[in-house]
Amino acid sequence: MHKKLFIPGPTEVRQDILDAQAKPMIGHRSKDFAAINDGVINKIKKALNTKNYTYVFTSSGTGVMEGAIRNCVKKDILHAVNGAFSDRWFKISKACGKSADAITVPWGKAIKPEMIEEKLKTKKYEAIALAQNETSTGVRAPVEQIAEVMKKYPDVIWLVDMVSSLMGDIVDVDKLGIDVCITSSQKCFALPPGLAVCTVSQKALDKTRTVTDRGYYFDFDAMQKRYEKDKQTPTTPAISLFNALNLQMDKILAEGMENRYKRHIAMAEYVRAWAKKHFAMFSEEGYHSVTVSCIDNTRKITVADLNSELGKRGFQISNGYGDLKEKTFRIAHMGDLTLDEIKEVLKNIDEILKL
Ligand SMILES: *Cc1c(COP(=O)(O)O)cnc(C)c1O
Repeated sequence: MHKKLFIPGPTEVRQDILDAQAKPMIGHRSKDFAAINDGVINKIKKALNTKNYTYVFTSSGTGVMEGAIRNCVKKDILHAVNGAFSDRWFKISKACGKSADAITVPWGKAIKPEMIEEKLKTKKYEAIALAQNETSTGVRAPVEQIAEVMKKYPDVIWLVDMVSSLMGDIVDVDKLGIDVCITSSQKCFALPPGLAVCTVSQKALDKTRTVTDRGYYFDFDAMQKRYEKDKQTPTTPAISLFNALNLQMDKILAEGMENRYKRHIAMAEYVRAWAKKHFAMFSEEGYHSVTVSCIDNTRKITVADLNSELGKRGFQISNGYGDLKEKTFRIAHMGDLTLDEIKEVLKNIDEILKL
């Protein structure tokens, strides 16, 4: 039996989107593929209301997290670390040989704008990287307030991981001045894994062009030049996934981003109310994620047992991440899930736990 996914990626993929991947193969140097790539890029830009360059890479999100570091940083970068994924990005910078500093707060807490300003005052960083939606703890970063700080430091490039929130939560990339915004197909896009989408500002692209050891596969300049030449990608893209993305973008635009956001908020609020009644939220009050709720296991249930019981009923939720395993559990409300589906999974948890 298929278990409906309420995990923070991969998310549940609708049948028509799965079917779109079964179209006959075409050559990636064809006009047909160029049209698909160009169509997809323009639809994403429309949905995000951004004028920034937009690229679709055949990789998972982590690939572009590494790519962004290599493209935009020669030496000094500051990371905001408040969970597993923001920590991964910090590790990536170090693995790429950068001189990386971190602002660290306990898991479950949000990084506040004044913490960032404090650091930016003390040292000239080329870039700062943070997770807008820290999936391991369900914390949403206050990017709207952080943007006010960033405006005072126009030379600093702002890299944002929106892997588990873009296309669910709404962030005005252009208005906030986010230079590189990254996401993966298997989260709020509700697609299979395998594609990563990013927006790149003129400022970031200009910087890229001055970085000599920026690597090859994720070179933003190469992506841009190839797109300008013939709307294609430098290397072979995952064409089947592009077909799914193309159809999904039509569906996302038909729903409308505002409606999509409202649906995500409605699901988030329902889960939070349920969590506060029976458990507690793990994420700091005022900074709860719109797309995934991390719940403090105050009743000391065995999360693994709950999940196997849920599995018999055709549902899957997520245990806590890493050290938070069994101490927390996560219910994702992202992608194409509906409030009714959220109500259904919570009703089943109520029955299993006799709440
Ligand atoms: C899932 C996730 C990632 C990693 O993305 P992959 O597509 O698995 O490489 C990075 N950051 C956040 C916040 C995530 O949720």
